[in-house]
Amino acid sequence: MPKLQRYEQKIRKYKEKLKTLITRIGISYPKEFELIDEVSENLILPCHLGILFFGDFDIISFEKIKNHLNQIFDSFFFGIRNLGAYNFSSEIFSKGVKKEYKEMKKSSNKIRIHPTNKFYQILIDERIKKNLGMIIAITNLPIYSSKNDNILFLYGEAHLKHRCAVISSFELKDYNTPENHSVFEKRVFKEICHEIGHLILGPDHCHDNLCVMRFSNNINEIDKKSSGFCDKCEMKLNEIRKNSNF
Ligand SMILES: [Zn+2]
Ligand SMILES: [Zn+2]
Repeated sequence: MPKLQRYEQKIRKYKEKLKTLITRIGISYPKEFELIDEVSENLILPCHLGILFFGDFDIISFEKIKNHLNQIFDSFFFGIRNLGAYNFSSEIFSKGVKKEYKEMKKSSNKIRIHPTNKFYQILIDERIKKNLGMIIAITNLPIYSSKNDNILFLYGEAHLKHRCAVISSFELKDYNTPENHSVFEKRVFKEICHEIGHLILGPDHCHDNLCVMRFSNNINEIDKKSSGFCDKCEMKLNEIRKNSNF
């Protein structure tokens, strides 16, 4: 299997080169899920946050997520709304999907991974329709970055300009050990806080070992950090509260 993955990586690299070449000689390359580029408006805080669920996501209740976010973000949200489960139509579901190998406990089949732009487009439309300041998607489906399609199996990604983020629980499971639900749940909470943190504080990561804004390469690193902000990040949040008068 590792050999196969190496070949796949090579092919991906050549595909990138080919894409550039095709663009250079003027053949249009069909891009999947280019986002509509609306005029960006600034995020006004406090705001309403909406949460939309994709896939089979009844593993963690909305109420639990809401309580956790209210504890961590305190006065940042007027309200947190459950937007329910979004069902992809079969046409949308298959758009932009990549099929990749992934070594897991039992299966060595190819897995269908979804581009983040697909979620963003739905989120942008919902955010505007429901008049929300910020919106996030939580899914059990595996995702890859539309900004760089070599980055596969992400935990989450935020789109600052469009004030939305997507969090995938797929890689937060430890497929090699028996399931521990409370550990899994904590990871999901941390990644939700991390992405919302980006939407409020910007794209930078924090170097504090315990801070939720630290970048995590793997689930062990997620387990090591806390679900809250370090003093420095908390100060930045307070600065925002002060500047926005809340
Ligand atoms: Zn991050
Ligand atoms: Zn920090």
